[in-house]
Amino acid sequence: MTPNHNNPPPEAVQCATPEACATRLELARRIAELESRVTTDALTGLWNRAHFDQIIEKELDRSLRHRQPLSLVLFDIDNFKRINDDYGHQAGDRVLRELAIVANTAIRSSDALFRWGGEEFVVLAMSSGYRGAGRLAESLRGQLASHLFPSVGSLTVSLGVAEHVDSESAEDWFRRADAMLYAAKSDGRNTVRIDERGNSDLWNTGQGLPALHLAWQEAYECGEPTIDREHRELFELSNAMIDAFMSSGGDPARAAPAYDRLLEHITQHFASEESLLERHGYAGLEAHRRAHAGLLSRARELRNSVVSGGAGLGGLVEFLAGDVVARHLFKADRDFFPLFNTK
Ligand code: GH3
Ligand code: MG
Ligand code: MG
Repeated sequence: MTPNHNNPPPEAVQCATPEACATRLELARRIAELESRVTTDALTGLWNRAHFDQIIEKELDRSLRHRQPLSLVLFDIDNFKRINDDYGHQAGDRVLRELAIVANTAIRSSDALFRWGGEEFVVLAMSSGYRGAGRLAESLRGQLASHLFPSVGSLTVSLGVAEHVDSESAEDWFRRADAMLYAAKSDGRNTVRIDERGNSDLWNTGQGLPALHLAWQEAYECGEPTIDREHRELFELSNAMIDAFMSSGGDPARAAPAYDRLLEHITQHFASEESLLERHGYAGLEAHRRAHAGLLSRARELRNSVVSGGAGLGGLVEFLAGDVVARHLFKADRDFFPLFNTK
């Protein structure tokens, strides 16, 4: 993922006169140019540090929500000062430009390469834990070390790798990658150092359960907007609950707030569903009320069991996916769907 400097100007603009149209196109072109200048590094054409700062919070948020690990590979040219001293600053600039091309080719198109400043670069490795990012760093090191740079020959880089952990700030995460880079320099350069910690370790301890997120499907919609909205929210809160449990780091009590939000939602949703069904004169209302009451008491029991460490993730997922979604939402709720079905 690199900046695109060849964005064509927007076409098919509706304008009152040809002059107005030309002015609009010119304005759009200038805005695009300005945007690209703000986010890209003038020397290498890579993303710049400001762009990194701009996107990092969103990427972290996405990583946590989808439980896709995110890693940083920070690297710095070894003894670059010597290249400048021996061949001149312009030759140094050419090396930086060429290195940007070689490094960009070495990473995946979904990864993002930034010039952090000077002769220091960062790869934001998407969906990569520290192991995968470590392999990427090693491959980058090897490819750069074997590349022949015109007029200056070969050079090496040192690399530091850190995967994001739990709720640490972007700054702390970056500091860990920087400490690894520093360690690689101290180790004699032309090497990779990896901080062997990361969310991928937590997220991989799913007790053998392959799909830990409940996926919403259109077939779950009954056509009544309030019920559909609340059912969707039930899915989101269940997934947030599973995430909280996964990242509770062995302390299940830390998952309690997420569980309580879910419980509160279930309670409120059951009440609103019952009152809607009552208004529509649903014949199976009493049986449905009993099913709700049963689920609620099971949910409360399970909450205490989760918080005290008695129930594992398996029991929790079985309850949410099996009892609430598959048996209740998919079977009991189906009975009242014809009341609202407008499709
Ligand atoms: P180390 O292995 O410890 O990283 O040694 P080094 O010489 O690479 O490190 P140092 O930080 O001492 O020097 C970095 C050099 O990079 C000094 C600076 O002049 C040069 N530099 C930074 N930005 C640019 C640039 O845009 N163009 C050129 N040509 N040189 C640059
Ligand atoms: Mg250097
Ligand atoms: Mg440096």
